[in-house]
Amino acid sequence: IMRESYVSEKDVGFKRVHDTLGPIVIVGGGGKLGGLFAQLFTLSGYEVRVLEQNDWDRADALLADAGMVVISVPIDKTCEVIERLPPLPEECLLVDLTSIKQAPLAAMLKAHPGPVLGLHPMFGPDVSSLAKQVVVVCHGRGEEHYQWLLKQIAIWGARLHEAPASEHDQAMQLVQAMRHFTAFVYGLHLKREHADIEQLLQFSSPIYRLELAMVGRLFAQSPSLYADIIFAQPDALARARHYLDRYQEALALLEAGDKVGFEALFDDVAQWFGDFAQQFRVESANMLMAANDSRSG
Ligand code: NAD
Repeated sequence: IMRESYVSEKDVGFKRVHDTLGPIVIVGGGGKLGGLFAQLFTLSGYEVRVLEQNDWDRADALLADAGMVVISVPIDKTCEVIERLPPLPEECLLVDLTSIKQAPLAAMLKAHPGPVLGLHPMFGPDVSSLAKQVVVVCHGRGEEHYQWLLKQIAIWGARLHEAPASEHDQAMQLVQAMRHFTAFVYGLHLKREHADIEQLLQFSSPIYRLELAMVGRLFAQSPSLYADIIFAQPDALARARHYLDRYQEALALLEAGDKVGFEALFDDVAQWFGDFAQQFRVESANMLMAANDSRSG
């Protein structure tokens, strides 16, 4: 469904930035994200080849004249797949789309002496367009050889955000691993409490509906994707423990009936959020308005 809707929206195609690039080989191109990128490159006029699990006996032929190789396999397979690549053409650009960046980038730099780039598309394969989506860029080697790709992605509509791989992985702890983990626990809680979702929705204001949607959408996706994102982070356990500490800290106030203490702590956090608190209030109000419009429309 994703494919059809994407094609119908973008059937005019995109401008091709690199006129002379050899074929693009997407390792894992039969998967969700690899498939999306295969389509974007095809719509931009590039020749795209897919190298899937059962294609390794043809790998040499597929890769011999590659202009770019894109790695888009499950996180826990990424490094071994990179190590398995035969020597690539000297000028070939090696890129990965993995949700973690340090380990894959190091593996690519080791495996290929040519240009290397780490990307993390901060969106799932179900987006209808790349407009306003973010792609994180972690520079590897030979920047001048992949400027065209960054330009191509910008033409697709995405915003590029450059960051060192270590900084990216740390931010992902909070943005992805922790958020998915807490959403998972909330979902688990709803199940164990035998929550009647139908009924909850009857009682729900739009903001709660949105919150429930954020949790529920997790469970429409693949368990292994989330397991990978959460478990691949080296200090996921420590982070989750810290979170539990804070939960217990707040729980203690509740246990003690300490409303004053709760309010003081609340104020403390509000101070820390500063101007962002108001900004988020406005932003969420706008999102709710948009969500409501699209629901009744
Ligand atoms: P997916 O399971 O849909 O696709 C992975 C593909 O890799 C499959 O087609 C599988 O057959 C193939 N594959 C597995 N082992 C292989 C091997 N040894 N050789 C060749 N191909 C092999 O997963 P996905 O969701 O498309 O994720 C792929 C990558 O994209 C992951 O690194 C993930 O972190 C990243 N990513 C995914 C999302 C998302 O929302 N899906 C978002 C951002 C980044």
